[in-house]
Amino acid sequence: MGKSHALSGAVAWLAVSAGWQQAAQHDVVPVGPNVATVLLGAACAAGYALLPDIDHPKSTIAGALGPITRVPSRVTAWTAARLRQAGCDHCARGPERGGHRALTHTAAFALALGVLLGWLADRHGRAVGLAVFGVGVWLATYPALSGRTRAEVAELVLGDNWPTGRRARRVAGMVGSLLIAGLFVAGAWGLPADGWWWVGLAAGVGTFTHSLGDALTRSGSPLWWPARIRGCRWRSVGTPRWLRFTTGGPGEKVVLILLLLAGAGSSWVLVT
Ligand SMILES: [Zn+2]
Ligand SMILES: [Zn+2]
Repeated sequence: MGKSHALSGAVAWLAVSAGWQQAAQHDVVPVGPNVATVLLGAACAAGYALLPDIDHPKSTIAGALGPITRVPSRVTAWTAARLRQAGCDHCARGPERGGHRALTHTAAFALALGVLLGWLADRHGRAVGLAVFGVGVWLATYPALSGRTRAEVAELVLGDNWPTGRRARRVAGMVGSLLIAGLFVAGAWGLPADGWWWVGLAAGVGTFTHSLGDALTRSGSPLWWPARIRGCRWRSVGTPRWLRFTTGGPGEKVVLILLLLAGAGSSWVLVT
């Protein structure tokens, strides 16, 4: 599912860029996106489209850097579970449902994250902008490349005298991911120092796309928290059950084809 999430994040960014460009052409906003914002934003949104699953201790992102990511994952899951029980009378009366698909799977979370990162990047410029971008690229390496490929990158850059064994391969894969993110950041270093607010928009778009994807295809997301829906603030919303599909089924192929078409359509709007 990571690949679908990442692809939908990138496509959503292309669609947002196309809309942004149209707005600039009709003088709604002063400047439109440029090549760098479109391409770097797509990579950034693809990576942040994995972020909401930090609330699940077994997710890719939770295990990405071993304890360095597992501890924040546990804290997020715990906090989200407490918030679900404390923030809704209906949930407080029901059985404990844990922290997965709670706070981080809401539109409000994506909006708050996007605004916060965009504001920080706008205030502090390139250093913060590239940090936000780098995290996105780092996350995107997980669905984009196999552990083996990431480990090979580490060997290519740092030499191939790594210890053998599964644990060492895992660590090499982690180092490879960080190196790739570092290389992308170094490559983007020459961009202007100001006007970096859009990385926040890309992070927010990617984050929201994940939750929207879960709502459309999996067991729903509490997208509209804290709005009360049928008595519950954490009500999962999404497509009717019969429309959802299981990972790997024919439905996923249909979604992938629709995503590619949407990406092609947005790119066409951008280049014409
Ligand atoms: Zn999810
Ligand atoms: Zn509730």
